[in-house]
Amino acid sequence: MRVGCPKEIKNHEYRVGLTPGAVREYVAHGHEVIVETGAGTGIGADDGAYQAAGAKIVATAAEIFQRADMVVKVKEPQPSEWAQLREGQLLYTYLHLAPDPEQTKGLVESGVTAVAYETVTDDHGGLPLLAPMSEVAGRLAIQAGATALQKANGGRGILLGGVPGVLPARVAIIGGGVVGLNAAKMAAGLGAEVTILDRSLPRLRQLDDIFNGRVRTRFSTIEALEDEVFTADLVIGAVLIPGAAAPKLVTREMLSGMKRGAVIVDVAIDQGGCFETSHATTHSEPTYEVDGIVHYCVANMPGAVPITSAHALNNATLQHGLKLADRGLKAIAEDKHLRAGLNVHAGRITNRAVAEALGYEA
Ligand code: NAD
Repeated sequence: MRVGCPKEIKNHEYRVGLTPGAVREYVAHGHEVIVETGAGTGIGADDGAYQAAGAKIVATAAEIFQRADMVVKVKEPQPSEWAQLREGQLLYTYLHLAPDPEQTKGLVESGVTAVAYETVTDDHGGLPLLAPMSEVAGRLAIQAGATALQKANGGRGILLGGVPGVLPARVAIIGGGVVGLNAAKMAAGLGAEVTILDRSLPRLRQLDDIFNGRVRTRFSTIEALEDEVFTADLVIGAVLIPGAAAPKLVTREMLSGMKRGAVIVDVAIDQGGCFETSHATTHSEPTYEVDGIVHYCVANMPGAVPITSAHALNNATLQHGLKLADRGLKAIAEDKHLRAGLNVHAGRITNRAVAEALGYEA
């Protein structure tokens, strides 16, 4: 198969669908790989690195869309991209179609076969192509929170780990899933006093085993939440109710009980956020203040660290990508997890949740 990787064109998107390491794997499977010039600039991989991995460099995205049997990307196709997709072509990327009727219409009309990273499943009921971005966002949440806590950035002016003789900062993490676990690892690693709140007792048991006393776990009731939020210097929002908007667990009223200059990092902002006062921000202006509390609500946190994120993403997408390239549509028919990823095929929506959300017939 001829596999193509265009340069991402969404605003401030520096990741790339195929790293040179991934290209080498496709080439080793006997595929031809074409990459748009400059596609890897954002992760420090120049055209030479792709050529050394066996790719051919082409001058324009148009050549990729015309010639490739399978297009591998990161972000959902933009209007100029979906206009170039065609029937019989495979598209492998994040799509997030449910809230995006315009893109959905574009993909349906193109006739393309589109596999969305975010709906590919695994044997444990997880979403393995989403997890690496939650790992990145969870770890980054503590870096972002630590920076926002600095006085000059509007925060209280406290160091997460303290120093000998001075108490560390307190970090409350609401939601102990992939984001919460990774945030807790970073915060505990820096020496902060960390509590994770979750509604799932089995998950709290797992977390307790992982941290062996280094991190406190607490069942998330209104009372427990208030206790932790009011005494925290940094609060991380990391809840997820699959397929639903995030519950607003911290109200505006509760902000008045918090320490002045405390920081909220609402990682769940991509699902609407779990703080009533959250609204999405960007990397160029990541924070704002409400009632003396600093809010950091960047919706695409992994975009800040494209080198880490692109490699983490490629690690997760490679196996299924190779199956798609090796077997084409047969791979989708044979593998239920890839089938769960199929969102659009030959002019139809093939994912029930997406179809229902947009009023299409599945
Ligand atoms: P996850 O499913 O692994 O974990 C969510 C956890 O929330 C679960 O353990 C669940 O039990 C818990 N939970 C649900 N309701 C709760 C409640 N009322 N109180 C306490 N805990 C509750 O999800 P994840 O991968 O960790 O993702 C968390 C959020 O972060 C999602 O909204 C995801 O989309 C988002 N995210 C954002 C970015 C970004 O750039 N902003 C990047 C990656 C992920």
